[in-house]
Amino acid sequence: MRIGTGYDIHRLVEDRRLVLGGVEIPYHKGLLGHSDADVLSHAIADAILGAAGLHDIGHFFPDTDPKLEGIDSQIILRKAIDEVSHLGYKLQNVDSTLIAQEPKIGPHINSMKRVLSNSLGVTEDSIGIKATTNEGVGDIGKGLAIAAQAACLLVN
Ligand code: MG
Repeated sequence: MRIGTGYDIHRLVEDRRLVLGGVEIPYHKGLLGHSDADVLSHAIADAILGAAGLHDIGHFFPDTDPKLEGIDSQIILRKAIDEVSHLGYKLQNVDSTLIAQEPKIGPHINSMKRVLSNSLGVTEDSIGIKATTNEGVGDIGKGLAIAAQAACLLVN
């Protein structure tokens, strides 16, 4: 068994779509990034890659590559699963936390699980997604950014 952890943060700005866990969430701001900036999917991808001792997603998907602009982060997750599968690992489960002052995440968690289970090739009950605010503290608390943490277990 191999454990992995991942962390990511993106700035919340005007005129961007907000995509979390592969689900577009109605909100007047979105996350800024070279890809669709899906902070939750990025944290999960890094947890998966890290568990296998591989490089992080920046290595596989450099933000200097113009071909990757606006890329759907579900492609990044599928790539992470592909990479660890080649090494003989299978994803057992993922747990994660989204840290966002706004918008409310709870109503979208089941949709995120559905999308992520498809991308990761595991059942929805193998995916944990929790959400917390930052209690108004710091940049996340002021609504300037959203962060995510993830942990996963690989088995072979
Ligand atoms: Mg990212």
